[in-house]
Amino acid sequence: MKLYDTQSRGLKEVNVEKEEVRMYCCGPTVYRDAHVGNLRTFLLSDLIARIVRLNGSQPRLIQNITDVGHMSEDFINDDKMLSQAKLEKVDPFEIARKYEQRFHTDLAALNVQPATAYPRASESIEMMLSLISRLIDAGFAYVGSDSSVYFSAEKFKSYGAISGNKLDALKPGHRYEYTEDGAKRFHADWALWKAAGDRTEMVWDSPWGKGFPGWHIECSAMSMKLLDGHVDIHVGGIDLRFPHHENERAQSNALINKEAVDLWVHGEHLLFEGKKMSKSSGNVVLLSDVIARGIDPLALRLCFLENKYRSQMDLTWNAIEAANETLKRWRTKMGHWSTDDSISIDPEIEQAFNADVDTPRVVMRLREIEKDDSHNKAAVFRYADQVLALDLNRPIEERVLTPEMKTLLEDRALARNEKRWADSDALRVELENLGLSIKDTPEGQIWS
Ligand code: AMP
Ligand code: ZN
Repeated sequence: MKLYDTQSRGLKEVNVEKEEVRMYCCGPTVYRDAHVGNLRTFLLSDLIARIVRLNGSQPRLIQNITDVGHMSEDFINDDKMLSQAKLEKVDPFEIARKYEQRFHTDLAALNVQPATAYPRASESIEMMLSLISRLIDAGFAYVGSDSSVYFSAEKFKSYGAISGNKLDALKPGHRYEYTEDGAKRFHADWALWKAAGDRTEMVWDSPWGKGFPGWHIECSAMSMKLLDGHVDIHVGGIDLRFPHHENERAQSNALINKEAVDLWVHGEHLLFEGKKMSKSSGNVVLLSDVIARGIDPLALRLCFLENKYRSQMDLTWNAIEAANETLKRWRTKMGHWSTDDSISIDPEIEQAFNADVDTPRVVMRLREIEKDDSHNKAAVFRYADQVLALDLNRPIEERVLTPEMKTLLEDRALARNEKRWADSDALRVELENLGLSIKDTPEGQIWS
């Protein structure tokens, strides 16, 4: 099984001979609903985990819940959680729990298998404090003049290996970092622990005074602690490559003095109808929007599968509708093809999964097999569905009227035209006894 590693810029083998493959996927910042772009990235870790399983190993997947410390770029020097809590006029933890619950609901609707654990940042403070203390002791971090603790980027020699952003070329980056400039020794240093200042919510005691953790330290602490000091596969969206993953790598590697992560996998971004999904463009799409249109959420999963995870993808309503039709067709055909529950490995599909999650090739192969009678089609579809997870075995409800129902419906329409209400009522009872439900509308009767 091979995956593209951002750090070495090439395909790298995943050792699936081991009993367990340790995976980490950066989770949601729970101040709002995840949009379908976020879901595309979360789906990527599910696909990788399923392919690991297909190869006979067990994934141990940790996905963090960021409920503190992710600073907002819209509100200078404010936490995303606290900004949203102010907007919704509720406690920040209430916001966090609400959106965390919705995140789980969305993942379940997309058939994303649950991670082994979903640690919350706010409940992992001790873990982070201990890591920060160790980084100070090892000379990689220092307490700034503002009582925040900073990582000293220059102390970590291979800084920039993932993103290619070398320190000598780096200028002060995100807006919120300007406010720390006075307290930091070097502009590319970042806060591991931020002093509370006048902030009163979501703050904790620490050896350096009241404050709250930075976002990057969260992922180092959780991955190192919950995956026993080594990550085989680290997953996240492409925007996290820098600075989030670069900083995470520096922190984790500094602690253990070797590479903490074998493989950095990054999913490319999703656009919607040609534009980056953003509030200001007004094109943020949620899974609930897909469901509200009567579309199976797994149609969205199929859309994602039809595109390579390493390519930017432009999603459209037309593409989702088309995928929905394909799903229905496949499920209907499965009902006709299938006589048993057997699974038959298709070597081309197996190879495509193992070649850097080439799901577009798998979908194309299924389209070929659909038309070709030489296969046990249902058995091959079931094999692929272990990773695709499109519920292809789900029976489709066929709504077909029997000739008797048709005659009764025609008779009732005629009775209503001729205002024979007693006949119309009697015919309704007969139709209901056959399992139909009848409604009268200004345009005539409709059945379901
Ligand atoms: P967030 O909740 O903002 O921390 O983001 C959660 C995940 O979604 C991260 O891995 C991001 O890199 C990823 N992400 C954000 N925007 C997009 C997008 N438009 N397409 C795909 N992934 C995204
Ligand atoms: Zn992370």
